[in-house]
Amino acid sequence: MRDLAALPKAHLHLHFTGSMRPSTLLDLAERYRIRLPPALLDTDPLRVPSTERGWFRFQRLYDAARACVRSGGDMRRIVDEAAEDDAAEGSGRLEIQVDPTSYAPFLGGITPAVELVLDAAREASARHGLEVAVVIAASRLKHPLDARTLARLAVRYAGDGPGEVVGFGLSNDERRGDTQEFAHAFRIAASAGLASVPHGGELLGPTHVSEVVAALRPDRLGHGVRSAEDPALLAGLVEAGVALEVCPASNVSLGVYEEPGDVPLPALVDSGATVALGADDPLLFRSRLVDQYETARHVHGFDDAALAGLARASIQASRASEPTRRLLLAGVDTWLATSPSGEETTR
Ligand SMILES: [Zn+2]
Repeated sequence: MRDLAALPKAHLHLHFTGSMRPSTLLDLAERYRIRLPPALLDTDPLRVPSTERGWFRFQRLYDAARACVRSGGDMRRIVDEAAEDDAAEGSGRLEIQVDPTSYAPFLGGITPAVELVLDAAREASARHGLEVAVVIAASRLKHPLDARTLARLAVRYAGDGPGEVVGFGLSNDERRGDTQEFAHAFRIAASAGLASVPHGGELLGPTHVSEVVAALRPDRLGHGVRSAEDPALLAGLVEAGVALEVCPASNVSLGVYEEPGDVPLPALVDSGATVALGADDPLLFRSRLVDQYETARHVHGFDDAALAGLARASIQASRASEPTRRLLLAGVDTWLATSPSGEETTR
């Protein structure tokens, strides 16, 4: 079997706080004398019975982790380590998602918070040999006018290169907020060419996916896995070219599916959907990018050609420039053309 960490890929679904190394979280908690909930330190999040997993618990832990981030230096460290870890897993393109609102209080506003993250992304790209671009995400828990403010800010830094804003997202509990009310913010983002990358089809099913599609016109759906419950809807997404950022470990940790084998990854791929695997929040799920590919291999039986297909899809669904895509796609071909023992196959 070929080494999945050597397979070039793009990572399109990773949240800023959730990307943190557990050791970094411990370090920050110690520095600021914060007592962490013991569950945050659990190396096996699936020890929690599936009936007790779920959004509420997740949100509480996520907030506790975010409370440990208290300076620009902490934020730079998180971006740098996320980039280093991604590069070590074969990611040539990371599009990391951040809601700057949480970090504005200690940086003097959302604008310096965004600029710091973009600057850190640029530096980390150069240091670790990958491209780190940024998705600015609004929260469903905040007022839709806040989302518009964030969209206008995101537009100012639009681009496709390292340290630029490539997309606009909508995160947090899907069951909260009126999707339609966020449409204006997404129109602002789209007018500057930013990708529309809202969450949808994770906690809620097909009806909500349809609402998200109609209101926010996504280029990619964060998760979208539950569109598999409605073949006509899924066919519509395929037809419209909406890619799905599928995060199997996250789905199981949040109790969307009981077992990794229940995640409908094969059905989504077979439908013709563009599927980009992502880790979502490795800090909480203790499962990183390559682990998602390992699940596809070992749980769903994807062979190396199919795994290379997933990597290609992730690169194609990214907002990387044409030259970067070509380079990464050529790397996927080389990976597949090299036999598992390391020799080029003669075909
Ligand atoms: Zn997410």
